[in-house]
Amino acid sequence: MLETAIVVKVNEGLHARPATQFAKLAKEFSCSLQIFRGSTCADAKSAVKLMLLGVKQDDQILLRADGSDESDAVRRLLQFLSEPTAGVTLARHDGAKNGAGTAAGQEAQGEAVAVASNGTHHEPAAAQDVAPASSGCDASTEPPVHGVPASEGLACGPAFVYLPEELRATRQFIEPDEVESELARFGTTFRESIAALDQQFEAMGQHDDIVEALADVAQSDDFSGAVKEKIAAGWDAAAATLQVGEELSAAFLAMDDEYLRSRADDIRGIARQVALRLLGKEDVSLAALAEPCVVLAADLTALDFARAKVANIVGLVCTKGSATSHLAIMARAHGIPAVLGLPVPEELLREASRVALDGAHGQVWFDPSPEWQTEFDARIAQERRRHAALSVYRDVSPVTSDGRHIEIAANLGSLAEIDAALEAGAMGVGLFRTELLFMDRRTLPDEDEQYDVYRRLAEAFHPRPVVIRTLDVGGDKPVPGIAFPHEDNPFLGWRGVRMCLDRPDVFEPQLRALLRAATLGNVHVMLPMVDDLDEIRRAKVMLENCAQALRQAGVACAMPKLGIMVETPAAALTADLLAPEVDFFSIGTNDLTQYVMAVDRVNASLASLYRTDHPAVLRAIGMVCEAAKRANISVAVCGEAAARPDMIPVLVGLGVNELSMSPSSVLRAKKIVSEL
Ligand code: PEP
Ligand code: MG
Repeated sequence: MLETAIVVKVNEGLHARPATQFAKLAKEFSCSLQIFRGSTCADAKSAVKLMLLGVKQDDQILLRADGSDESDAVRRLLQFLSEPTAGVTLARHDGAKNGAGTAAGQEAQGEAVAVASNGTHHEPAAAQDVAPASSGCDASTEPPVHGVPASEGLACGPAFVYLPEELRATRQFIEPDEVESELARFGTTFRESIAALDQQFEAMGQHDDIVEALADVAQSDDFSGAVKEKIAAGWDAAAATLQVGEELSAAFLAMDDEYLRSRADDIRGIARQVALRLLGKEDVSLAALAEPCVVLAADLTALDFARAKVANIVGLVCTKGSATSHLAIMARAHGIPAVLGLPVPEELLREASRVALDGAHGQVWFDPSPEWQTEFDARIAQERRRHAALSVYRDVSPVTSDGRHIEIAANLGSLAEIDAALEAGAMGVGLFRTELLFMDRRTLPDEDEQYDVYRRLAEAFHPRPVVIRTLDVGGDKPVPGIAFPHEDNPFLGWRGVRMCLDRPDVFEPQLRALLRAATLGNVHVMLPMVDDLDEIRRAKVMLENCAQALRQAGVACAMPKLGIMVETPAAALTADLLAPEVDFFSIGTNDLTQYVMAVDRVNASLASLYRTDHPAVLRAIGMVCEAAKRANISVAVCGEAAARPDMIPVLVGLGVNELSMSPSSVLRAKKIVSEL
């Protein structure tokens, strides 16, 4: 074994590019290679681990090599580390420079601090904090990267990097004699792209209008005509496609009409698909997840989730998002351990090949060593056993020791989550978020389509109650078909019930669908983002008018129980005035916390200030419970705090009657309440 201490001279240290080059060089050798920085170490053949080691210029590190070609490896790697411009190109590290045959050659350059072999450590004066010459990295030396704990659970698996790359044409212009063949190539590729798009949408059950509209625009002179013109003028087909795509989408973006504006993405999407084919590349797609993987991404949308083979996402790591972002909520709904808001550059995600995570503690390990992974696998197995043991609570209706019955319900966002909720023993649905129904598409869903979803949900849980929340979208979660104005503060803007009351064309079909589904007897309706009594009264009038119209038309309907989400400070402070108007309250602690604390719930850098357990938020919850008790109506919590083991006793103590959460948390909540 050889060990060498060295002061790193690489400009700005082993950041993304030099780390990648260094790992590439290390992989040329068969010996094991490790780098120690202080008490932590990394496999020198893993670029990701090297980046995470955070080696800076002028840091002293120890390089350890063990194997038949160790001296060659040490010589080449030390040479790399001693060059300020290392990482710019590998060609400079060909071993010939300086004629250095051993690590001693580094001493001649003044960079190597010491060389030791076969465990006889040749101690350098400044190397006391260098790790001992024991065998490989153990668990304690695999430091995690910390992000926002977003969905509990342990996971480990191959990395699936979901970061669409920025497309660039490989050349800009072609020779005059290539024009004809380039035009033909574009024509064929274009037709193939449209056909592929067609298939993709058909698989999503959204064939007709979207594909037709897209195909129309794409086939118009504005798009394919303009591309052909550019090719005829000597442009490369891919370069022309990307350029026309950008120009055309910019033109759409400048439109006043929201529908037309949202076509800009479609155009860019088509141009991208065609250019990818022309360049012989493929875009990553979550639909292609063929085996269980940990997905690494910047962000995921509801649509990404809808397209993914969710069963193959064993874990999720994103550089954006926070604990109460809708991404976190979707991960929890699907029981996928997740760490969000991870402060690492995208290059690091791209380099990872295996990832482990602890969603409860927001910890992520990139490319862990086999030894470490064995330990982690044992933790996963233990966690599974613990979870399996909870299944005895499936049919339990939890009662506290002082005799209070607490309902444990599920939060759902789609019908696909029903089975998981029923399996977990959810005693109903405390919150059905209807947004996904509006977002996972290009046009607004009509009354019949909505009725079908609400009816199927109510039937699945019958006779247990299902609380369906009316559309809660706004400028941060735009929906095709609703023209949201630009707002500087969309979280304080035209959203939730405010938008719905202004848009009867959006609200009334939903109310009619809900009134029809209410004939099943277990459908309750809930209004989001209520501030004021007047909003409740206006919604009630609309509900009554819709019911009357349905009755007149001879359509079966029933008046559901009507409740509100208490999630603004205004609603919490006037809960006593609102309570007599409604049948139930459900406290949305996700928003209530952000508004009471004045902390953006999706800003990962403010995560430590976003505290539902802050006395200010707890006082607000206490006031709401008190008002509900006086008015003799039930009060639930359906924000993420409802599933937190530390918050459940507090919420129950404050007087909450129901806790509604992701299906994956239901069993544990039942156990906690039963033991109170
Ligand atoms: C909440 O605000 O607590 C809530 C449940 O609603 P959402 O997370 O959908 O805003
Ligand atoms: Mg909310």
